[in-house]
Amino acid sequence: MPVNKAAYQQLIIDLQSKNVTLVAVSKAKQVQDIKALYDLGHRNFGENYVQELVEKAGQLPKDIHWHFIGHLQSNKVKSIAYFVQLIHGVDSLKLLKEINKQGQKNNRIINCLLQVHIAEEETKFGLDEKEVNLIMNEFANLGMENVKIIGLMGIASFIEDMNKVRMEFRYLRTIFNKLAPLAIAHSPFTILSMGMSADYKIAIEEGSNMVRIGSLIFGER
Ligand SMILES: *Cc1c(COP(=O)(O)O)cnc(C)c1O
Repeated sequence: MPVNKAAYQQLIIDLQSKNVTLVAVSKAKQVQDIKALYDLGHRNFGENYVQELVEKAGQLPKDIHWHFIGHLQSNKVKSIAYFVQLIHGVDSLKLLKEINKQGQKNNRIINCLLQVHIAEEETKFGLDEKEVNLIMNEFANLGMENVKIIGLMGIASFIEDMNKVRMEFRYLRTIFNKLAPLAIAHSPFTILSMGMSADYKIAIEEGSNMVRIGSLIFGER
């Protein structure tokens, strides 16, 4: 299925007027589809799998900002550390330490978001509020210089009940708001990554400033 350029154009106008960054989720999509969107001026793309990301990044222009939005295993960090723009799904101190180590090796500061579990489904990765606070505190004391936590990410439940989805986003926004003033001391804490094709409008109403959208632009997977 080709890229839906009309949907993209409309989306980008809407999001820009609200100062929301669009991460175009290109998982399972062809390199030429990504290139088509790139040629329209798009630069932020998101991928879920390390190997797929590395392969695509190697075949596409170097000025693309690649977002890793999947679950990252510590042993895979080194494969993406030299180019990744933002890692959305960080959910342990162990992973942060490894990202810091690989950032050091590559002489870069790698930006990360902590993933918070907001959905009712059991299977989703992520932290609860207590764990987020714990990690933020420990992180502040460790003085890691090559990794920064610049915000939070969450995935809402896949359900029909959009009011429930809204409450999940609202909850994440509340945690974000509580952390923002504390976090300024060691890094900017400004990114709230929430919202996908089905629920991005609600996410933005609830304070999202970064949405991750795939099927609306690239078609169903
Ligand atoms: C696949 C995926 C998206 C995009 O989903 P769509 O419904 O296609 O917009 C966003 N975020 C994450 C974490 C994903 O895995």
